[in-house]
Amino acid sequence: MIGFRATFGRESMEQNPPPPPFPSPEELKAKISEFMKQNFGDRVAFTTFSQSETEPAEAGSEEKPEKVDKEEFLFNFLPRDIKAHLDRFVIKQDEAKKVLSIAVCDHYNHAKYLHKLEKEDPARAEETEYAKQNVILVGPTGVGKTYLIKHIAELIKVPFVKADATKFSETGYVGGDVEDLVRELVQKADGDVNLARFGIIYIDEIDKIASAGNMIGRDVSGRGVQTTLLKLMEETEVPVRSANDLQAQLQAAFEFQKRGKAKRETINTRHILFVVSGAFERLKQQVSRRMSQGQIGFSAEPTQVMDNELFQYVTTQDFVEYGFEPEFIGRLPVRVVCEELNADDLYQIMKFSEGSLLKQYERAFRAYGIGISFDDESLKLMAQAAAKEKTGARGLLTVWEKLFRDYKYYLAGSGLSQLRVTTELVREPKRVLDRLMAEGHKHEGEALKANALQFADRFQREHEIEIVFDESALQRLVERAQTERMTMPELCAHLFKDYQFGLSLIQKNTGQKKFTLDSAAVDAPDKFLSELVVQSYYPAAGAKNA
Ligand code: ADP
Repeated sequence: MIGFRATFGRESMEQNPPPPPFPSPEELKAKISEFMKQNFGDRVAFTTFSQSETEPAEAGSEEKPEKVDKEEFLFNFLPRDIKAHLDRFVIKQDEAKKVLSIAVCDHYNHAKYLHKLEKEDPARAEETEYAKQNVILVGPTGVGKTYLIKHIAELIKVPFVKADATKFSETGYVGGDVEDLVRELVQKADGDVNLARFGIIYIDEIDKIASAGNMIGRDVSGRGVQTTLLKLMEETEVPVRSANDLQAQLQAAFEFQKRGKAKRETINTRHILFVVSGAFERLKQQVSRRMSQGQIGFSAEPTQVMDNELFQYVTTQDFVEYGFEPEFIGRLPVRVVCEELNADDLYQIMKFSEGSLLKQYERAFRAYGIGISFDDESLKLMAQAAAKEKTGARGLLTVWEKLFRDYKYYLAGSGLSQLRVTTELVREPKRVLDRLMAEGHKHEGEALKANALQFADRFQREHEIEIVFDESALQRLVERAQTERMTMPELCAHLFKDYQFGLSLIQKNTGQKKFTLDSAAVDAPDKFLSELVVQSYYPAAGAKNA
């Protein structure tokens, strides 16, 4: 997509005048017509139809009809259906699964109800009050926050968009970016604007846009982003075509010139579910401190990660103290913690999650013709190593990639067909790989030898001349096939291409039907053959093959 953004940074304002506002489709059409005329005179026309010349779009143009709104938004899940689906993929995080399942059902049941009401009685739909079930997910990295939301979106078949809040604070122009999230939902829904209205927008690292109280500077951008997000979370109309997207605007201009008017499509954000998440590292300390001063008497431990036990005492005021505007945090009534994953959880993920890495590796090795299997104890060792990474289930990815990199590289095409992952392999990957490769080499050697004997068999069947490879010949053939990376049939066909002709000649001269080839024949096949041929003409020169 061609797109450009207007910069409203202070520097550019000082050096250059601000860019003119982007023309409307009507103005753009006029400018293009002018440009065409100036550059091409009357040779090329940018045809304009007056409105009376074209059928209005609604009355049925020859163009493909726009996607019609689906009559109803389909949603028929119970919280327990959603939880059961999440249980297949996400290990632990039971509280989060439960809370999210309920929030999602409430949200979409209400959206479904309102959607129906909007059609039947728009005025009443307008009046209906509802506090949207937007969610804050608190939790460290890699514990399944995104994974949960992604699987919910997949199950209920709504588009899902993820972004980092930090992206917004870095750009000078905040509003445009935030609205792009809504437009991205349309893309994810394959252009179905109606479905995009029910999408899920997930914003990670929300704690990074907390305004930092006494720290002047960051304050401004943090609060700015919160305000813009707030508007989106409440209810606003977002144009389907970005004002800064040249391609979208050109499309609108062409539409305008074709139909005499451009459709101004917008997406209302009323039914979009917002989920924000972050590690909120200071929150636990903050709450523990407050609790220890207050009536319950928690000790202020320095641990950074929030757990569900303490989280029940977190109040809106704690988030405000953290650096959030009360209005912003007020729009996020559903709050839940995703807890840290320990080594045992990581083991469970490998073993039981349907989306586990283990399945991915099984597929990857199978593609190289290798069946991989795992001892339970080896999985436990890997889980322990991954837990040390302190990046949740992402640690598994790091550990596995490092462990299996050389295995994939060297074992693919080595002739090995089974790989059993043992604790020894996890502890001493290099030594085990060397051993497997030596075994694989031996195994491959045997297979190559068998192929060489098959070549000799076929030679006899096809030409009625028997060739026999002695042990030294077989060994050299295997060595050459391995070092020259050729298959045995290719190598033999190449080395012995003249043997049918040469040996038949000898057969005619001497009646000999059986020829034994040694390593010399493999190293210099032409020389070996020509010596045999010469001998067959002059037997006195000394018989090599009796
Ligand atoms: P974050 O909490 O930072 O959003 P993700 O949800 O993106 O982390 O997790 C990264 C990957 O780790 C997921 O794609 C998934 O494969 C795996 N994963 C994380 N947590 C879990 C979990 N609780 N159960 C199963 N897999 C998980």
